[in-house]
Amino acid sequence: MTTAAQALRGERILVTNDDGIHAPGLRALEAVARSLSDDVWVVAPEVEQSAASHSLTLRRPLRIRRFAERRLAVDGTPTDCVVVAVNHLLKDRRPGLVLSGVNHGGNLAEDVGYSGTVAAAMEATLLGIRSIAFSQLRSSDAPTSFAVAEQHAPDIVRRLYEMPEMRDRLFNVNFPPVSPDAVTGVRVARQGRRDDMVGMVEGRDPGGHPYVWIGHWGGDATEEKDTDLAAIQDGAISVTPLHLDLTHEKSLALLKERFA
Ligand code: MN
Repeated sequence: MTTAAQALRGERILVTNDDGIHAPGLRALEAVARSLSDDVWVVAPEVEQSAASHSLTLRRPLRIRRFAERRLAVDGTPTDCVVVAVNHLLKDRRPGLVLSGVNHGGNLAEDVGYSGTVAAAMEATLLGIRSIAFSQLRSSDAPTSFAVAEQHAPDIVRRLYEMPEMRDRLFNVNFPPVSPDAVTGVRVARQGRRDDMVGMVEGRDPGGHPYVWIGHWGGDATEEKDTDLAAIQDGAISVTPLHLDLTHEKSLALLKERFA
């Protein structure tokens, strides 16, 4: 057993997601976590919170439902789940690793900004806990399978866990919509950028009242070679380090001159 594998064995792992406590992707990640550690806790939203981003519930109390000793639901957002787990449920011993997902659907490029899955990992990072977000791209012709995650995630977790801890950093992992044997590799990639992300449908409800419906019609095709979009396009698993500090470094000096 490697040192990382040994350290993980005794580590407390918190598993969460944004698809809710009953999501098959959560079960898959829970199984991955259990293969690595003997102290796995699941604290996930009671109902689906996809695209909840990094929202925190402040104006109402949160209720906790216990399904098993180490499996609980919170009637809030993914961020609420991490906050409640770390500061309340697991305050006797903080988790050393937070795994979020496996999301039903990819979290590539600008998805990251909307994603509740990624936000849960961001919250863990803010709390000083190592964290990884996992997402499985959907296939258009078959139900979402988590076989790629089940086969490849344990090794990815071990490798990322070995990385030196760094302030404000988390990892975003996406699995391509192929069978485990068809995966072409694991590729370290930067966050990509689409330019045709949001689509709108306009219609009328059965009462005749007009509505608009926001959707995601963005194509994932990209010309860039080093992005998460390109990795998935090539059938690879993408691993992207993300940074919480949103400061635009190049503008700092320019702005300082302007305001001198
Ligand atoms: Mn989701």
